[in-house]
Amino acid sequence: MQIKTILNRVQKFKSFVYGAVRWVEGASVPTLEVEIQPRSNSRPVCSGCGCKRPGYDTLPERRFEFIPMWGSKVFFVYAPRRVGCPDCGIRVERMPWVAGKHRLTEAYAWFLADWAKRLSWKEVAEAFRTTWDHVFCSVERAVSWGREHQDLSGVKAIGVDEIAWQRGHRYLTLVYQIDGHCKRLLWVGEKRTVKTLLRFFRWFGKERSQELKFVCSDMWKAYLKVIAKKAGSAVHVLDRFHIMAHLGKAIDEVRAQEAKEMKAKGYEPVLTKTRWLLLKLRENLTGKQEVKLSELLQYNLKSIRAYLLKEEFQLFWQYTSPYWAGVFLDKWCTKTMRSKIEPMKKKAKMLRRHRPLLLNWFRAKKQFSSGVVEGFNTKAKLTTRKAYGFKTYRAAEVALYHALGALPVPDTAHKFF
Ligand SMILES: [Zn+2]
Repeated sequence: MQIKTILNRVQKFKSFVYGAVRWVEGASVPTLEVEIQPRSNSRPVCSGCGCKRPGYDTLPERRFEFIPMWGSKVFFVYAPRRVGCPDCGIRVERMPWVAGKHRLTEAYAWFLADWAKRLSWKEVAEAFRTTWDHVFCSVERAVSWGREHQDLSGVKAIGVDEIAWQRGHRYLTLVYQIDGHCKRLLWVGEKRTVKTLLRFFRWFGKERSQELKFVCSDMWKAYLKVIAKKAGSAVHVLDRFHIMAHLGKAIDEVRAQEAKEMKAKGYEPVLTKTRWLLLKLRENLTGKQEVKLSELLQYNLKSIRAYLLKEEFQLFWQYTSPYWAGVFLDKWCTKTMRSKIEPMKKKAKMLRRHRPLLLNWFRAKKQFSSGVVEGFNTKAKLTTRKAYGFKTYRAAEVALYHALGALPVPDTAHKFF
C-alpha cells in the first residue's frame, strides 16, 4: 500500500490530489514530504470570500506540517495559487488543510491540542518533537474555535470563584456553569475587581444574565456588588466551600500567632505540625491524627477553641429551613463574638453582614450541587500549577479554557484518535 492511499483514506480533499512522497535527505529527524497538487481543471477558491475565482499566479512552494507517522515528521508541500477576485483583489487561495497563515495543518493542530489535554504542553512538545510554541498555538486555535462554537443557551446557575496565580497576590476570576446537566468553565478574567466581573457580564450578554436563576460566590465585595447589579433576579448564594475556607484561614491565623507566643514564653510546642489537623474535617483525620487531636483538645488554647467553633459551624449546613438556620447562625455569631479570638470575631462579623445571602443557600440548596465550585477550584489550581512555565496571562487563560471549558471540537478533529 502506498502512503498516498493511506492519506486518501484519512484526509481526502475534493479539489486537490496527493502527488509524490519522498524522504528529505539530510534532515536531523526522519522527514517525509508529500506533494499536493490541484486537481486538473479545478479553479482556486478565494480565501477572502470563498468563491471560485480565476487564477492569477502561483507562489513558491510552502511546507505545512502534518501528523507525524512512525517517528517521522510529515510535511505537505504545495505551491499556493493566487486568485484575481473581483471582490477581494489579489488573494491567496483557500487551502482546506490549513487555516490562515499557519504552518501547522488543521489536523496536526487538533492532534496536538487533544494530547495537550492529557499531558503537559512541554511533554506534548517532547513526545512529538515539536516546540512548546507550536503546542500553545494549537491549543489556542482549539480554544478559540470551541469558544466560537459553544452553545450558551440554558445556563441557569453560575458560580464565581477566584484563584491566586504566579505565587503572588495576583488573581484570576473564574465563572463556571454549575447546572445539574452541564458543568464547565465559562469565562476567565484577570484580577478580581468590579471591572473584571463586569466584563464577564458584558460578554455573557444582558438577556442571558437575566435568565440566571442562581449565582454562587464568595463574599468578596467586588463580586457581590456586580452580581446584585447584573443578575438581580437570580438568587445569590454564598457557598459552603468559600465560607469554610474563610473559617479555615482564621484558624490558621490564630494557630500561627499562638504558636509564636508559646515559643516566646518557652512553653512546650504542642502546636507545631498541627496545621492540617485543625483544618481538615474531623471525619477525614487518620487514626494517628485523631489521637493527636484528642491530646490537643485537653489544652485550653485559642487555636483549639477556634477549631471547635469551626466544627460547630458545620452543623449550619445540615438545616433545611432558612428560618432555623438563621437562628443557629445568630447564636453561633454571638458565641464567637464572646470568644475573645480576634480572627474568629472578624469572620463572625462578616457572616452577620451577609446573613440574607447566607440563608439563600437553604433556598437554593436542592437546585445545584455546591461541591462543583470546589471541584473546579482544585482542577483550576492544578492546571495553572502544571503550567508554571506559562508566565503570561494569555497562556494561563488558554490552558484553563482547554482543560475545564468542555469546549466542542469539529467532527473532523476526531478522525485521528
Ligand atoms: Zn474573494
